[in-house]
Amino acid sequence: MKVTRRDMLFRIPALALGGLTLGGMIAGCRDDEKTTAGAPQAADPTKTNSLMSSLPLYYPGTEALQSNEMRISFLGTSPIPRLAQECESVFIEVGKGTDGPLDQFIFDVGSGVVAKYNAMGIPFRKMNKVFITHLHGDHTSDLTHIYCFGPSGDRKSPLFVWGPSASGLTDPSSGYVYNDDGLNVFCKTFRDMMRWHSESFSFGATSYASCPTLAKTITDWGLPAGTAPVTPTIGPPDGTTEGYAVVPIELNWSTIGGVAYNNPATGVKITHFPVIHCRKGSIGYKLEWTIPGGGGKRITVIFSGDTKPCYEMINQANNGGSGIDVFIHEMVVPAEVWAAKNLGYADVNSAKSDPRWTAALNYATAVQNSSHTSQGAFGYLLSQMTPSPRLAVATHFQATDDTIASATTSVRNHYPVGDLTFAADFMVLNVTTNNIVLRRAAVNEWAWYPQNKVYPDNNAPKYASPTAQLDLTDEIPTPKDVFGNDTYRTDGY
Ligand SMILES: [Zn+2]
Ligand SMILES: [Zn+2]
Repeated sequence: MKVTRRDMLFRIPALALGGLTLGGMIAGCRDDEKTTAGAPQAADPTKTNSLMSSLPLYYPGTEALQSNEMRISFLGTSPIPRLAQECESVFIEVGKGTDGPLDQFIFDVGSGVVAKYNAMGIPFRKMNKVFITHLHGDHTSDLTHIYCFGPSGDRKSPLFVWGPSASGLTDPSSGYVYNDDGLNVFCKTFRDMMRWHSESFSFGATSYASCPTLAKTITDWGLPAGTAPVTPTIGPPDGTTEGYAVVPIELNWSTIGGVAYNNPATGVKITHFPVIHCRKGSIGYKLEWTIPGGGGKRITVIFSGDTKPCYEMINQANNGGSGIDVFIHEMVVPAEVWAAKNLGYADVNSAKSDPRWTAALNYATAVQNSSHTSQGAFGYLLSQMTPSPRLAVATHFQATDDTIASATTSVRNHYPVGDLTFAADFMVLNVTTNNIVLRRAAVNEWAWYPQNKVYPDNNAPKYASPTAQLDLTDEIPTPKDVFGNDTYRTDGY
């Protein structure tokens, strides 16, 4: 690992994090915090995040993980798409392998997050395992891009998607039982929906011959027997080494502690448990990493997905009395704030004179009551955990100086001392059993895809050429000049 002086300075003990996360708020912004338009951000608390600005920088691609180290990258942290915070996604990498980290996982894939993954230099081959907490659009939208363009890049093997089973709910008016709202149907429909895309790109290799067989993957990852790609409604079944194959691993949402993934080779075990969100069929995940060669030492992370406060969350975080390392939990702004912001007001008091106020507040309150954890409830949850998590991270939260100040007060009323922070996109945690280092990724807003891994044994493309699927009768051929030469270059310039 390349250790810079900066890294040495900021590899601080976890004990110092409280001060860093809550005491380190600095007004204004730094030179590297320019907006896209190039103008410095004004010191407006509704438009700044001094917590993020105060974090030391992490330069993606310059540090290999150590064999005992986990990296958690927050690449989508909001329930609504915004440039600074796209919808929910967390990327977790562990250990040191022969091709980068030993193992890696995506938790939720909200809209807009693939741009963040690109900026972090995360290639498609590392984005093949997606754990979805529930099937809301702000947690699933960018599955489309990961699926469609993975085989154009270097994921020339199936896409594995974990998620909850059908709600089992009945429509009270028709009596219709919703057995079609679980992950299996979602994935099958998704595969069919993307048929035009998958066929259109099949002039390139979309699988490679030495891809581990699906059966080996099932064994190695502790997946249920019979795990297989969904079968498209039309056309031949996808092969088990095919990049356009979608392999759902549907998890019974009501099971507490069900095993979603268990890989002894990397030490990662992921379990799931029910949470309470909007409609039956939402789950949270717990990732336990037993560090290979680490004498049984573990690093444990919970990702709540979306949920109201629930007892099982506390039980999972207590973890049989041993506690967890990083607790990532959703939290929402107060309903009044949500309503005011959606009406275009920076503060609640001026919004109250708007005739639309009551309807906006009622709707925001209904959303919170059906689905989410308030600031105070998040603090209360933390206060009930024994022992406390080493670091609590609130996410799914529009994090600016004004909302962070309010949330800090609410959370600290119940949870006065434990280490706490508020996620925004590009916040990066390096976690070992001794330290948690909190930084902000320095990224290139103009990044292309990361470098692809080239496989020497790609299978033959389905179609012979890029033009095999076209009707070219109306194509304009390159015109010739009087000497018979092309009038413009045919190499694209
Ligand atoms: Zn959400
Ligand atoms: Zn949701």
